Amino acid sequence: MKLPSVEYEAPTTTAEAVALLAEHQDEASVLAGGQSLIPLLALRLARPAVLIDINGVTELSGVSRVNGHLAIGAMTREYQAEESAAVASDVPLLAAALPLIGHEAIRSRGTIGGSLAHADAAGELPAVALALDAEFVLRGRARGRVIPAADWFQGYLTTARRPEELLTEIRFPVAAPGTGVAFQEVARRHGDFAIVGLAASLTLAGGVITDARLAFSGVADVPVRAAEAEALLNGERPSAELFDEAARAATAGIDPPADLHGSAEYRKKIAATLVRRALRAAADSAERNSAQGRH
Ligand SMILES: Cc1cc2nc3c(=O)[nH]c(=O)nc-3n(C[C@H](O)[C@H](O)[C@H](O)COP(=O)(O)OP(=O)(O)OC[C@H]3O[C@@H](n4cnc5c(N)ncnc54)[C@H](O)[C@@H]3O)c2cc1C
Repeated sequence: MKLPSVEYEAPTTTAEAVALLAEHQDEASVLAGGQSLIPLLALRLARPAVLIDINGVTELSGVSRVNGHLAIGAMTREYQAEESAAVASDVPLLAAALPLIGHEAIRSRGTIGGSLAHADAAGELPAVALALDAEFVLRGRARGRVIPAADWFQGYLTTARRPEELLTEIRFPVAAPGTGVAFQEVARRHGDFAIVGLAASLTLAGGVITDARLAFSGVADVPVRAAEAEALLNGERPSAELFDEAARAATAGIDPPADLHGSAEYRKKIAATLVRRALRAAADSAERNSAQGRH
């Protein structure tokens, strides 16, 4: 399909990109990997007057450790994060989720910032960011802001970003020792968006769960944290009975949509199964990591 004609800007620094956003505000769209935006343009579902292509802003790419966080530049490609030793060791839940995004060709262009700014609730990274309480670093012309993940996702493909702001970095907390993770999902075919997915992280100390984190993808128009199930898990020892209870608590609070991929009831059933599977896998890896004194 032919793209509509649009004014094109290609800044090479963050400051230039932010100045262009300040000038054009909601007339502009930021172009990152283009894996979501270009199809939206082709289908006329997005109609910006100006495209601000940030692929030349090299300072927005890269991974660095800052004060107990792993800071990932917004333009870091999904495959770069997937191949990063720092991501694998410091944010294992992110490392577990990345290979599940689309296909390699998508991940070679798609960016961490693009995926989280697009905020598709069926995507893997929004659930990971919410589960881990990631922070979103924004830069506007006047000042910067840092937004916690709990406030970032505001509705269908909608975030707390203002039109004049650029997402520059996402900060993920470094996993504590004794942490095990799992990202489980059900999709019709490899590479498809999942029907339902679950990001799970468990930290164990002395065989007891000290920090349980669960967030669903695909059950609402935003990723959904399973706070009641987390509260039920914390302070307990992992067991099949406990995980059954957590599955009941996690799915009691969700009201998934129905569409051609499945009914609301089907999605709820998948969600319960994913909770049990993901908790078992996360607990097994947490137990191994506790024994070896690592995460
Ligand atoms: C066939 C196919 C299969 C896919 N499968 C999956 C999947 O299974 N799971 C999944 O999660 N995703 C999937 N995706 C989407 C993929 O992960 C995209 O890469 C991602 O959603 C968007 O990232 P991008 O860098 O391409 O962003 P773009 O498409 O360039 O931008 C997306 C949106 O974010 C905005 N934006 C981008 N960067 C910034 C920034 N720094 N600051 C402010 N706004 C910004 C853009 O303006 C636009 O509105 C799939 C895509 C395709 C084409």
